[in-house]
Amino acid sequence: MEIAILVFMFILGTLFGSFFNVVGYRLPNNMSIVKPGSHCPNCKHKLSPLELIPILSYIFLGGKCKKCKKKIPIFYPIFELITGLLFAFSYYIFGFSPMLLVSLLFVSTVLIIMISDIKYMIIPDEVLIFSTVFLFIIRLLLFEYSIWNILLDMLIPFVFLLLLKLFGDLIFKKESMGGGDIKLMLVFGLALGWEMSVVAVFLSAFIAFPVSLISLLKKKEHVLPFGPYLSIAALIMLFSKLDISNIIDILIYK
Ligand SMILES: [Zn+2]
Repeated sequence: MEIAILVFMFILGTLFGSFFNVVGYRLPNNMSIVKPGSHCPNCKHKLSPLELIPILSYIFLGGKCKKCKKKIPIFYPIFELITGLLFAFSYYIFGFSPMLLVSLLFVSTVLIIMISDIKYMIIPDEVLIFSTVFLFIIRLLLFEYSIWNILLDMLIPFVFLLLLKLFGDLIFKKESMGGGDIKLMLVFGLALGWEMSVVAVFLSAFIAFPVSLISLLKKKEHVLPFGPYLSIAALIMLFSKLDISNIIDILIYK
């Protein structure tokens, strides 16, 4: 039974992953996410339902458009696979609980943001607003947090990263971080709580450091999108189920 639910969550995840691919590509380009239907970007061939099955279509089509034989980027099926795994993993970690809802919404937000941030260096406001509003409602109704607590969770990480950015701007004498990264903190705070979100910022710096070093050494572009690192760090914090607020309570109140 448990395995059946895990498989179901995986399949659900791959379907959503396929949809997020579309959203992450179209929103930064100011295109509608429903119209037109999915098509080959090369020959405009409209994809049939059979060509839209996540992962499997890619394998059956041999990674090429059915009509013009243009290669389909391997990124798409891999992304669908990752989304499927993260959906199944969310259920594995949280079971049927309010946290499952938070986890699925958070995983989805983070995945869409990763696509648009890596490809276009944009974190779409629509995605941020959507998940901020829904996470706020979930926290309020299912977790019975007070509005005051929710606002603190939202705003502390936001202000924290804003101060870091202003500090960075002063030191580097140029824009050190995008506004999207800072707005993303509202979503982090709602999903993880403010303590874990602040830890996620530090963790992301650790993850980003070796990558930045490598790209600096290769003398490539050294302006890196920071959103993906923040997102990976936040996912690690989410799934670790660590509760730092407990530790802080113990330290302060003994
Ligand atoms: Zn084509």
